[in-house]
Order: sequence, then structure tokens, then C-alpha cells
Amino acid sequence: MRGVIFDIKEFAQHDGDGVRTTVFFKGCPLRCIWCHNPEGLSPEPELYVGTNGCTGCGLCRKPCDHPDCVYGRCLHICPQGLLRVSGKEYEARTLAEKVKKSADFLSENGGVTLSGGEPLMQWEFALELIRELKSLHIAIETSGYADADVFRKVISECDLVMMDLKLADREEHKKYTGVYNDKILANLEILKSSGKDFLLRTPLIPGITDTDENLAAIARLADGAPVELLPYNNLAPAKYPSVGREYTKLIVESESRIKSADGLPGNFSFR
Ligand code: SF4
Ligand code: SF4
Repeated sequence: MRGVIFDIKEFAQHDGDGVRTTVFFKGCPLRCIWCHNPEGLSPEPELYVGTNGCTGCGLCRKPCDHPDCVYGRCLHICPQGLLRVSGKEYEARTLAEKVKKSADFLSENGGVTLSGGEPLMQWEFALELIRELKSLHIAIETSGYADADVFRKVISECDLVMMDLKLADREEHKKYTGVYNDKILANLEILKSSGKDFLLRTPLIPGITDTDENLAAIARLADGAPVELLPYNNLAPAKYPSVGREYTKLIVESESRIKSADGLPGNFSFR
């Protein structure tokens, strides 16, 4: 089976235990206004035009009929190398073989993490990949937004589940991520009773997720399970024009007021 991947990061240090290879699945059903991977939102391969170093020479605007240049822009002409396609199709086995070139290192030092985007959006491909990689420690980073049977099937084959818990309030969740959190909260209960090693993660978005009310509600939902607080990545807005998207300017402060887990419940930690 084929899937679309937009990045493969080796030597990742924040995507689970140890040093890992992280595979980024393309496509996400959420639209978090703070998303720092806008190139992971669309499920399809798309044009990515880097902005850092663009001289405005205009060469890439010239018509091009090269077979690679399917987006109406020449992918090869930029003197700065700023044009590329974000998203590549792989057969699960081919991707697994690529990842397994570092298998000795990964099995001693960490493992493989499925991330995104949302890996559960391509769950059948994810399952096939996990099975191809089963000799390695497999972690998944997920929003938890999937049908319960899909969630159950995939987590049952993972060694570690890192699931986001962004906003406890249903309407706030819809307002800031584009979807209600009903499926996520149902899957949280499945995760808590699964016996799996898991970690909940809350991005600290200034004035949105880092409020006292939200963190208290997250603590209640976690019910003693570990919660990792993630600092907001304020470099995210710069990537949006690269895939022709606009960043929603709803974030009023540039940094969260939360700088540590001091004063928060004992199951909370700070990355
Ligand atoms: S060719 Fe490269 S440097 Fe020139 S305008 Fe296009 S992106 Fe910018
Ligand atoms: S769930 Fe993650 S990838 Fe999807 S929109 Fe939100 S931050 Fe972006």
C-alpha cells in the first residue's frame, strides 16, 4: 500500500525515548491555528516555495513544460534551490527498508516515531509500515482524532503513544482546531485502559491552551497520567506562505506565561 510522507527526520530527540527516526505523514483533519507544520495539512503532495534567501529574481515564474514541474512553476531553475515538492509517495515496504538502514543504531538507541500531520489519517498505510518495522520500538504522535476502531487497531501495534490533549472545552476545541474533541476524549479513555505506555501532550499556546482553566481541566482528564507541556513554536508563521496558506493571527502574545511545571500537578512535566 502507498502513503504520502512529507519528511523523514533522523536523530530526532524529542519524539519519544532516545534517538529516533521520525516519519511525517502528510494530511491532518485538524486545523489548529498554531500548527507549526502547515506543509503537513494537505494529504496531497504540493509545491513548497522556501522564502529564506529569495532574491525576487522571478526566474521560477517563467512557464516550464518539464515533466517534473507539474505545479506551473519550474522546480529546477531557482538559483537558491527554494522550490520543491512537499510530500512523496512511498510503498510501506520501501519506506521501511529506507528506515531500517539505521536499524542497528535505532534498536540500541531509540526507535521509530510516526508523526505528521496526523498518521491516523493514513491508518492502513501506518499499520503496514508498523508491521514492516516491528523489530524496532515504535512510537506514534497523534491528535487522537480518529474513529475508535482505527485508534484501537493502530495503538495496539505501537510501543508508545504520544497523544495531544490541547483543549478540554468542546467549543473552544472547535474554535481553535476546527473540530470538536468528542472523538479525542473517547479515544483518551480507550488509551487509558489500553495498558499501553503513553504520554499526553499539551502545546502551550499563549492565552488559548495555557490558561488556568484549561490546564486544570486537562489535569482532570489525564487523571494522573503523564502530561508533557510543549513550548509554543513561534517560528511557525514564517512557513505558511511557502505552501500558499495564511497564518491566522489570533495569538496575541508571543510566548506562553508558563515556563516550567512548577506549581502544576505532579504528573505534569515541561519539555
Ligand atoms: S527563482 Fe528562486 S530566488 Fe528567484 S524568485 Fe523564484 S524562488 Fe525567489
Ligand atoms: S493536529 Fe498537529 S498537524 Fe494537525 S493541525 Fe493540529 S498541530 Fe497541525
